Amino acid sequence: MIDVALTGAKGRMGSLIIDEIRSSQDLRLVAAIDVVGIGEPVLGDLRVSDAGDVRRVLRDSQPNVLIDFTVPSAALENIRAAAENRVALVVGTTGFSEEQISIIEDTIKSAGIAAVISPNFSLGVNIFWKLVEIAARSLSDYDVEIIEAHHRKKRDAPSGTAMRTVEILRRSLGIEDIRHGREGICERGKEIGVHAVRAGDIVGDHIVLFAGPGERLEIKHQAHSRSAFATGALRAARWVVKAPPGIHSMEEVLASS
Ligand code: NAP
Repeated sequence: MIDVALTGAKGRMGSLIIDEIRSSQDLRLVAAIDVVGIGEPVLGDLRVSDAGDVRRVLRDSQPNVLIDFTVPSAALENIRAAAENRVALVVGTTGFSEEQISIIEDTIKSAGIAAVISPNFSLGVNIFWKLVEIAARSLSDYDVEIIEAHHRKKRDAPSGTAMRTVEILRRSLGIEDIRHGREGICERGKEIGVHAVRAGDIVGDHIVLFAGPGERLEIKHQAHSRSAFATGALRAARWVVKAPPGIHSMEEVLASS
């Protein structure tokens, strides 16, 4: 049995992860932590613990893995708490600054724990990234634009998935410049265009468009349900408890599980 602690337990992702744990045979929820719904029942006798007590809750519940779907500032604290308690990590939160990423990397490395960090745990998006890389290698002279769309409550923009796509394109194309949206007179240069749509209840769409003389190629992923992310995050949780120390990608999880 794998004992799981969850931060962001009352959120959209947290609630789905609890549903999947409820119907699983090999996972047990031992701590559900949030800033809202404190004291409310979540699963069996387990109730929501206050995020302010995360260190004590992890010490008392001794999970094998902490899954975090919160906000960047909270995730940073939760990662520190997991490191102090030597608990493996699955981090799905997006929108970290460069400085926060470097603190997270140092914290995990110096604690010697294993972590899977991914802005997108869906199987389809991980294949989408591979296809983008292949296309970029062959279409290096084409203009490239990323268009992403999410629900109106998403806090960060562009999405973590779009920013990981930017990294892949930068590496494959050798282009540094990013253009976030366009307004007024703006001639197109050697740049990666990035456009974020926020509307209604869109779960998550990503398109990479390559356009050249007389044609365009679009690589597109659409998530219909957050369950694609929850299933992937739990697959990462099962994998990370046996993984060597260090920060691992979802690609590694999918390659060996
Ligand atoms: P959400 O519905 O807003 O859930 C986040 C939850 O975390 C909320 O209940 C929030 O409370 C709570 N929270 C805030 N501070 C906390 C703290 N210190 N400790 C514990 N909980 C805290 O958001 P969501 O849609 O579930 O998404 C959460 C994160 O995951 C976002 O960064 C999103 O971009 C990312 N995400 C990643 C993937 C992936 O595959 N990697 C997929 C979907 C979403 P309040 O609402 O009161 O702040």
